[in-house]
Formats: sequence, C-alpha cells, structure tokens
Amino acid sequence: MSGCIFCKIASGEVNAEIVYQDDKIVAFKDHAPKAPVHLLVIPRKHIRNLNALDESDTELMAHLMMSLSSIAKEQGLLDGFRAITNTGNGGRQEVYHMHFHILGGGRLPAM
Ligand code: AMP
Repeated sequence: MSGCIFCKIASGEVNAEIVYQDDKIVAFKDHAPKAPVHLLVIPRKHIRNLNALDESDTELMAHLMMSLSSIAKEQGLLDGFRAITNTGNGGRQEVYHMHFHILGGGRLPAM
C-alpha cells in the first residue's frame, strides 16, 4: 500500500536490517529496540492488523506463526522469546501494517 513504511521495507524501497525473508513474510530489526533482540515480522501483504484478517489469510498467518520460532532461534534466542502484536488504538498500535514483535535476549518484564 502506498505510504506504508512496512510495505516499503518489504519491497526494498526503504532500508531495514532484514534478518529473514521469503515470498510471504519479512523479518527485520526494530529501529528502536525495547530488548537486546527486537525483531518485527510482517506479511508482505498489507493487512492492517488482526482485526482485518479474513479467511483468505489463513495460510499466510499459519506460515507467519510457524516461522516465529525459527526466526527467533536464528537470532540467538534459544532460551525463548516473547511474541506480541499490538492491534488498533486500544492495543496502542502505531504502524498499521500487521507485525509481530519478537523480543528477547534479556530479562523481560513480567506481563
Ligand atoms: P507498534 O505499531 O506500536 O506495534 O510498533 C511499531 C514498531 O515499529 C515500533 O517498535 C517502532 O520502533 C518500529 N518501527 C517503525 N518504523 C520502523 C522502521 N522504519 N524500521 C524498523 N522499525 C520501525
């Protein structure tokens, strides 16, 4: 979607430190990390957030979810990690292209 920063990262128009990509998803380092390892995993397809998913996204979302563990492990998070996705105003979402934060590499605050 034009004007979407994460679409621009997925297309290569905007630089990011990409750690994994395939035909469906891209993972890159958050530019303002909140943990020693802080990655964002996005679908290439522009989807606003979990509230905007429909049935046609089932396979894509399964792929994204199934990829989180291997992406985290590849970045050294062998002891586990946190994966979260902020959804809408109530979830304090800032970038309206769905993304899963992967956080780890230190003692995370309890939730
Ligand atoms: P949120 O929408 O609140 O779940 O968070 C958006 C996240 O995207 C924040 O952690 C930002 O630091 C991160 N972010 C925004 N723009 C970029 C960018 N161009 N490159 C890397 N991370 C970004």
